[in-house]
Amino acid sequence: MSRLVMKFGGTSVANVERIRNVARHVKREVDAGHEVAVVVSAMSGKTNELVAWTREAGSHANNTEYDAIVASGELVTAGLLALVLRDMGMKSRSWQGWQVPILTDDAHGAARIEKIDGRGLVEGFGSAEVAVIAGFQGLHAKTNRVTTLGRGGSDTSAVALAAAIGADRCDIYTDVDGVYTTDPRVVPKARRLDRVSFEEMLEMASLGAKVLQVRSVEMAMVHKVRLYVRSSFDDPADPKLGTLICDEEDIMEQQVVTGIAFSRDEAQITLRDVKDKPGVAAAIFGPLAEANINVDMIIQVVSDDTTTTDLTFTVTGADFDRAKTILEGQRGEIGFTRLHGTSDVVKISAIGVGMRSHSGVAARAFRALAEKGINIRAITTSEIKFSVLIDEPYTELAVRTLHTLYGLDAR
Ligand code: ADP
Ligand code: ASP
Ligand code: MG
Repeated sequence: MSRLVMKFGGTSVANVERIRNVARHVKREVDAGHEVAVVVSAMSGKTNELVAWTREAGSHANNTEYDAIVASGELVTAGLLALVLRDMGMKSRSWQGWQVPILTDDAHGAARIEKIDGRGLVEGFGSAEVAVIAGFQGLHAKTNRVTTLGRGGSDTSAVALAAAIGADRCDIYTDVDGVYTTDPRVVPKARRLDRVSFEEMLEMASLGAKVLQVRSVEMAMVHKVRLYVRSSFDDPADPKLGTLICDEEDIMEQQVVTGIAFSRDEAQITLRDVKDKPGVAAAIFGPLAEANINVDMIIQVVSDDTTTTDLTFTVTGADFDRAKTILEGQRGEIGFTRLHGTSDVVKISAIGVGMRSHSGVAARAFRALAEKGINIRAITTSEIKFSVLIDEPYTELAVRTLHTLYGLDAR
C-alpha cells in the first residue's frame, strides 16, 4: 500500500462530467489499496473570471479580499469531487485550506506555505476516506485570513501536502501527458520527456513553461517528493506514468539542450542619455526594487561622449506601467532625457544541464535566429540556460528554429 497525492488542474475539472472522469482515476488508485489525497484547481477559466471581478470592483491586487474572492473557485470543485466520489461508492470529504490547515505567510496573492498539519487527512485514511483538498489556498493564522499561493499554485499545494503527509508519490494530472521539450501547443514536433531534472524543470518553469508552478518544483527538490506530470485524459483503466521530475544523476542520456521555454509576459524599458556617473544604477533600480518590481535583463550601452549612456532592461508585463511611473518620478535623480518601452516583446530561453560542459551553445542560436531575420534585443546567460529577447510576432518562428537547431524535434 502506498500513500498518494493526485492533483487535477483546471481543464481536468472543467465540468461535472470531467470531474466524474477524475473520480475514475481516483477510484483506480483506491481500488489498488492506496491512501489517496486529491488536490483540485478551480474549473478552467474560473480564476480568471474571479480576478476580473475583483478588478471591476476596484480592488487592488495582493490584498486580503482579492484572496477571499479568488480562492472560492477551488471550494466548488473540491466539494463536487467529494460528492462524485461518494456517488461512486467511496468514502470522501472535502477540505478547504484553513480546515487542514495549510498555514502560510501573509503575502496575499503570492503567499508561501509555512506549515501543514496533515493529521486530519491521515486520520481519514484510517477509515479509507479520500481527502479532497482545495488547491491554491491557505490561511494566515495570526490575521485569520485566507491567502492564495499565486497563479498555478495548486501544483504547490499538492507537492507541499505530499511532503507533509509523507506521500510516496505526487502525480500532477493535467491536459498534456507530461513535460515536453517545449509547449506542445506551439510546436507540434515537441517531444515528451520521460525524465527531466529538478534544475532544468525549475528553469523551464520560471522561464515560462506553465506546466508546473516554480515553487512546486523547488519544494519537490528540497523535500525529495517523487513528482510526476501526467494526463487526466488518459483512459483511467490504462494509465501512463508521464514525466518524472528527478535528480540529474537519475537521467542516463543527457542532451546539451533539454528544452525551450518562452514568456510573453515581458516588457522592455529604455532610458536615453542617462548620466554616466556612480550611483545612477542605484537611483534607477533601487526604487524599482522597493516597489517589488523584478528587473531581469539589463544592458548598458557605452556612449561616444562618455558623459551619458543608454540603459535598457526588462520587467514583467504586469509591472510595466508601474515601472514607467516610478522612473518618471525619479527623472530628476536619474537625469535621463527620454524613456520609452514596449510590451510587444518575448523572452525565449534554451535550458540544459549540458551547457555546463559545452561552449558555443548560445552562439549557434544567435546565428540561426539571424538567418531567419530575427533581431535580438537583449541576451542573458547563466550556467544552464540562455535567454534572448525578441519581437513578439516572431515567437513561434524563434521557438521552432531553436527546437530544430538543438535536435529536439520528434522523429
Ligand atoms: P493545469 O490547469 O492542469 O494546471 P496548465 O495550463 O497550468 O494546466 O499547464 C499545462 C499547460 O502547460 C499545457 O496545456 C501546455 O500548453 C503548457 N506547457 C508549456 N510548456 C510546456 C512543456 N514544456 N511541456 C508541457 N506542457 C507545457
Ligand atoms: N486556479 C488557480 C489558477 O488558475 C490555481 C491553479 O489552477 O493552480 O491560477
Ligand atoms: Mg497549472
